[in-house]
Amino acid sequence: MTTTFGDIAGQEAACSSLLKNIRRDKVASAYLFKGPDGTGKTLAARIFAKALLCSGDKEAGPVPCGACRSCVMFEAGSHPDFFSVSREGAVEYGKSGATIIVEQMRDLISSLSLKSYMGGRKVAVIHGAETMKDSPENAFLKTLEEPPPDVVIILVTDSPSALLPTIISRCRQVPFTPMEPSRLADVLEKRLGASAEEAFRAAILAEGCVGRALGGATEGVREVDDEAAGLMARMAQMPADEVMGFAEKWKKRERKDLPILLERMAEILRMSQSRNSAIPSDIMKKLLAGFGGAPGDRAEECFDMLMEAISASALNPNVQLFLEALIFDMQSVLQRGHRIGTKRY
Ligand SMILES: [Zn+2]
Repeated sequence: MTTTFGDIAGQEAACSSLLKNIRRDKVASAYLFKGPDGTGKTLAARIFAKALLCSGDKEAGPVPCGACRSCVMFEAGSHPDFFSVSREGAVEYGKSGATIIVEQMRDLISSLSLKSYMGGRKVAVIHGAETMKDSPENAFLKTLEEPPPDVVIILVTDSPSALLPTIISRCRQVPFTPMEPSRLADVLEKRLGASAEEAFRAAILAEGCVGRALGGATEGVREVDDEAAGLMARMAQMPADEVMGFAEKWKKRERKDLPILLERMAEILRMSQSRNSAIPSDIMKKLLAGFGGAPGDRAEECFDMLMEAISASALNPNVQLFLEALIFDMQSVLQRGHRIGTKRY
């Protein structure tokens, strides 16, 4: 089965407009796919590139067809008229891979100026386009101003504001937006066979970004998600020995997991306070059982504490003591309305 636009969840507007561009033969010479990480931009750029090169019937059947010579070569990674540039590729030039470098852009520009091998279009995808530094951007600007015939360039970025306005203005913009949590939860229920509660929890934690919710999160991160949700649900009722047990267990975890735990806790709290949250209240209630009936200002104070804790977690604290102090302090805020001491994390 070939991958088509229908496989990109929650981006119907972007996908149908791209498909229309192809079917009506109104393809622009440059596109800007923009939106947060995990919204499907990268997959969409791949499918769009493959569809632009596909020689199959665009009216009937799937687009791209998945069966023509072009599609087969594309899948094999050997399509001679397809180019992909990313900062990781800078490593092949002996550079760090932190940004796209001028040599990569020079090579791309020269490849795009040659005739197409297969006699059709030439397509280039530039991943993380915001990492093009000044000089590659300038060299590239000329190509965008006077694009060679039948060349389509797709820029993909999660921070469009970091691109030069002159580049942005030359591209057809295609926004990718996070899904409403309730819609994402539906997708997760269907694709993962998850329970409604699990699906909602994952949707909240992924902030509506399907890629993050589906495969983006590694096993370890998912485990941290579970622990964050469990902790938030039991926060107010946890007896002291359980708090200490939790903190002790975390002593053995990898240090990098600590800020993830804190961020997930903050995210659950943030969603619970957002008025237009699309999450059914019974599910939110379960997630936040530990905060049962806490006045909004107490929940807000807990959120502030988590924000402070996230910054402080970068200072390599003793994880066990850090978590004990934070949880006891949050419990004190929930029950009594103030912190135990004057400690700021
Ligand atoms: Zn094809």
